[in-house]
Amino acid sequence: MQGVAERVYAALPVPLQHTGVSAYGYMWRHRRMGGKFQAYRRGFVAREGFTSDQWEAWQTNRLREMISLAAEAPAYRRVFGEIGLARLDLDRFKLEDLERLPILDKDQVRQDPRSFCPGGAPSLEARPYHTSGSTGTPITVYHSGSDLRRWYALVDARYQTVVGITYGMPRATFSGRRVEVDPDSSGPYYRFNRAEEQVYFSAYHLGPSTVESYVEALWRHRPKWLTGYAGAIHELARLALEHGPECPPLAAVVTSAEPVTPRLREDVSRVFGCDVTEEYGLIEGVCHVLECAEGSLHSSPDAGIVEVVGEDGRPCEPGEVGEIVATGLVHQSQILLRYRTGDLGSWADGACPCGRHMPILRGIEGRVEDVVLKPDGSRVGRLTSVARDLPGVVAMQFVQEGPGELTGRVIFDGELPDDIRSEILRRLGDRIGNSMSIAVEQVEHLERTPRGKVRGVINRVDSQGPTAKAA
Ligand SMILES: [Zn+2]
Repeated sequence: MQGVAERVYAALPVPLQHTGVSAYGYMWRHRRMGGKFQAYRRGFVAREGFTSDQWEAWQTNRLREMISLAAEAPAYRRVFGEIGLARLDLDRFKLEDLERLPILDKDQVRQDPRSFCPGGAPSLEARPYHTSGSTGTPITVYHSGSDLRRWYALVDARYQTVVGITYGMPRATFSGRRVEVDPDSSGPYYRFNRAEEQVYFSAYHLGPSTVESYVEALWRHRPKWLTGYAGAIHELARLALEHGPECPPLAAVVTSAEPVTPRLREDVSRVFGCDVTEEYGLIEGVCHVLECAEGSLHSSPDAGIVEVVGEDGRPCEPGEVGEIVATGLVHQSQILLRYRTGDLGSWADGACPCGRHMPILRGIEGRVEDVVLKPDGSRVGRLTSVARDLPGVVAMQFVQEGPGELTGRVIFDGELPDDIRSEILRRLGDRIGNSMSIAVEQVEHLERTPRGKVRGVINRVDSQGPTAKAA
């Protein structure tokens, strides 16, 4: 819902907004789950038990198909020519050869998204979708109906085998969609999508005075699972614990977009009686990562080829944090090879007891652009995990208000004791040095964006986020 549709929606009375959300829901469900959805889904389920050799053979084959599609796109024709790939026999192209391609910056796609489409323009059937652009200008991606069906078949198949849920079950969602547009609304703070029995919560309005209304919606519609922004889901669980309304049990909570802390897992399991499953994916659809019951973050090899690279572009060793770069193997309307995701992560070592032969990420460590700018111009990233292991710390966020000022906001159980405060200050000092004045402030709630996302670092000095590199 963007542009005109969003304005029309905003002007409707609430009952018609429910209808609007449902109408959109029916259309969207057909676009994702019509056509060959079931056939695609069976393919993803069948591959789940692949051995490493089978995965390698499958990925090699699929990558060759993607490269030959890419050769029809203006952006790649040029690149392939430069590196001599145009003359290479595609039948001999191996997974290792991918490294010969340059890493793709978001800016290149932002400037000319159509040049990544085979034929130089999206097919008539493809539609534009926009990344959330929490900082910087959104990126336009083009997905056709069959792209979306393959993608949702993948996600639905993995949801079922790994978590035991499907899109066919009623669910509640916290995402960036502005279902309630009035910031001072007295509720309801959700709209109901009949097509998928989906409660669409506003992440923005959640607070102590509104939590009861959120919990009421859960009782009324009885979703089986809850999904969306980790920060909003944690806030709902915490508010329910603090203010008392009892929540209906859920079969699963699947979080995305923000880091999952041990505290979030604990609170969710107390409130909803289920485990938290971490998910990582992007609107661009270049990779899909889902946590298994053993706690491993498996990257689906049939969603994309994932790399973790250091600042010099070299592959990182297991345990070494770098940027996640991914080559999409699902979407064919616009080809993204070795795409910089802007997210930090690291590989885990070894195999998973669950038996899946899918690569394992040790963790998603936040955004590359979540950085603090020091007075000397250098940037410091990866602050969000600084106090995660300290007892009583529920969540943290960093705000840079001025060139030499940094404030760490902490949500803490009870009164923040002096020893925890000084430990946080000491750790921040270790990372940042003594050129900034650092303060730690206890807060009740973290600042959210207008779309309800909690950013790890809010930087009011250096807003050129997307080009920033973590130190
Ligand atoms: Zn596993």
